[in-house]
Amino acid sequence: MESVRVDDLVKKIVEKVTKELAQEAKGRTSVGEIVGAAVEAQRAWQWDYNLDARTKILSAIKSKLLPHAEELAKLARDDTDMGRLDDKILKKKLAITKTPGPEYFTTKAISGDNGLILEELAPFGVIASITPSTNPVATVINNTICMLSGGNGVVFSPHPGALRCTLRTVELIRDILAEEGAPVEVVSVLSDASLDSLKELMFHPDIKLISATGGPGVVKAALSSGKPAIGAGPGNPPVLVDETAHLEKAAKDIIAGASFDNNLPCIAEKELIAVNCIADELKDLMCHNGAYELKDRSKIDALVDLVLTKDHKIKKDMVGKNASVYLEKLGITPPPNVRLILVECDERHPFVQEELMMPILAMVRVADFKEGLAMAKRVEHGFKHSAIIHSTNIDNMSDMAKVMETSMFVKNAPSFASIGVGGDCPTAFTIGTTTGDGPTTPLSFCRLRRCVLHGAFRIV
Ligand code: NAD
Repeated sequence: MESVRVDDLVKKIVEKVTKELAQEAKGRTSVGEIVGAAVEAQRAWQWDYNLDARTKILSAIKSKLLPHAEELAKLARDDTDMGRLDDKILKKKLAITKTPGPEYFTTKAISGDNGLILEELAPFGVIASITPSTNPVATVINNTICMLSGGNGVVFSPHPGALRCTLRTVELIRDILAEEGAPVEVVSVLSDASLDSLKELMFHPDIKLISATGGPGVVKAALSSGKPAIGAGPGNPPVLVDETAHLEKAAKDIIAGASFDNNLPCIAEKELIAVNCIADELKDLMCHNGAYELKDRSKIDALVDLVLTKDHKIKKDMVGKNASVYLEKLGITPPPNVRLILVECDERHPFVQEELMMPILAMVRVADFKEGLAMAKRVEHGFKHSAIIHSTNIDNMSDMAKVMETSMFVKNAPSFASIGVGGDCPTAFTIGTTTGDGPTTPLSFCRLRRCVLHGAFRIV
């Protein structure tokens, strides 16, 4: 009885102290103060919390964040004015439930006549994570779980267009850390989203790794910092359909993938390449399953003017809207439940060449698979990000996998299968394309260390 009361007392004191620390943390605004506090917290997290403790706290983060999935999805939707609420809820749930944790770590041991070599993954320290407007909340959740699993701390730099939802996500995570008696500032965030603060963060001497998720500008900036960096850059994923594909499934899968969160995900199908002999049937099936084909050339030109600037760059305020919004602006009454606009064009069209991040899918015809594969390679622009095929020809599937060299390659499913929707994959919202890390896991944010013991510990 006595020990129960002592335990309760200790628990109350820990709660009180962590709440006070959380309050104090909210008052920090300068980059130097935020990083300084994150460094202190990270040291405690690395040395005072063993794998078991980290696993329990990360499980608490997962279970306690889950009931907030809808709130965060609504906030992200309102903040950015992009995407679809139901898909955004799914993305949060995916990041919470399918991001791998500390269980991902294994130790490599090599033993020989001369003793034992241990290789383990150790934290970098405090990581600067720069997050995109397209998946602001899911990236924060996914990065937090991965980075903390390896003993790192993180300071997030929010996207200016997604400030409120990013701050709220970090606030919720820190509340949970406080409730669990963990150092709250191990997950920190810049209080503003200015480029000056972001640059100060990247060049701060106590930032040991930069994780940059976004367009080419941010990846280039991270790689020019002179620090280790994960560059999760842009993509332009082609989906190729050959004459052996199950066409009805392909049509449904392409619509599901290309319209998911209104095409915001970097992995989403951005252009369709169809072998001529099945192109018409595929188009018909797509139009019966949620696509609207825009045929009128003048309307296609009007759509180009609506969503692209004169030099064919995307208009940011046109990204990620519902398909019906674009159609209405063109004076077309959208069919009920339309999710995707289909536009047939040639390879040079900007809808093929640009990463639109809109539910507008360009379709190009090719004579055969070989021509389609060569085109897919060209229009992916060497980003080595993602590609998709619908086929039952094993040779075609293998050839495309080899030729594309993408970090993600999906066969006979929507693009989002590669991040765990409807499948067994772990999820990743930071896909290290430019730097070759691929879909990130807790291992991606750690450094390999080797420890050699000479002359002993071999047991056979
Ligand atoms: P964005 O490049 O506009 O912004 C991303 C972040 O970079 C923001 O926090 C922004 O403040 C910062 N930033 C932008 N330019 C910068 C510069 N010159 N120096 C320093 N920081 C800079 O990206 P977005 O529009 O929010 O997101 C969409 C892009 O991100 C697409 O290209 C998409 O493919 C890509 N993306 C890639 C991945 C991946 O895992 N590979 C994931 C999501 C999004």
